[in-house]
Amino acid sequence: MYIARILYPVEVLGPGKRIGIWFCGCPRRCKGCSNPELWEVQERYQVDFVVIKELIQQICEQNQVDGFTLTGGDPIYQYDEFRRLVDFLSAINEDILVYTGYKKEELQDKRLDNIAVLIDGEYIEDRNNGAVLRGSDNQQIYILNESLRKKYENYLLTATNQIQNFATADGYVSVGIHNKGFEF
Ligand code: SF4
Repeated sequence: MYIARILYPVEVLGPGKRIGIWFCGCPRRCKGCSNPELWEVQERYQVDFVVIKELIQQICEQNQVDGFTLTGGDPIYQYDEFRRLVDFLSAINEDILVYTGYKKEELQDKRLDNIAVLIDGEYIEDRNNGAVLRGSDNQQIYILNESLRKKYENYLLTATNQIQNFATADGYVSVGIHNKGFEF
């Protein structure tokens, strides 16, 4: 599978301290995308599922992990690997938030079980208006896990979009929902 980065603690892409996982590869090429470096599937980001599992287990053993956020790139572009990872993560924590450029209607033949929250649709720069958790307001937030509905409804009412910067092997990475015209 192709994973560009795994970061912890991500506190700006969902409630609590989360493990953020950035998949590599996205066919959409949205104007103003904040992660264009993840459009291409790059061989240097190929990693064994076992390595990913071990890293996540290690982070979870040593830290409070309130959930997972899967983004990219587009996680569902690598659907089989994505599903394997979601099923593994769900045994650790049911709070799994997934961003995808696909519309939910396009995913009718795909398994969405064990995904707590799905945020769907491409990024439309002219509709970037500060909506919580959404790059642009055409994107829809689907709370699929009813046991987490109150948690997320409360989060969406009280949170504001923030940015976190992480030092990575690729240099500094800016994480969160960025304003229109963001450049790092
Ligand atoms: S779907 Fe997301 S990752 Fe893909 S190009 Fe659009 S904004 Fe970027």
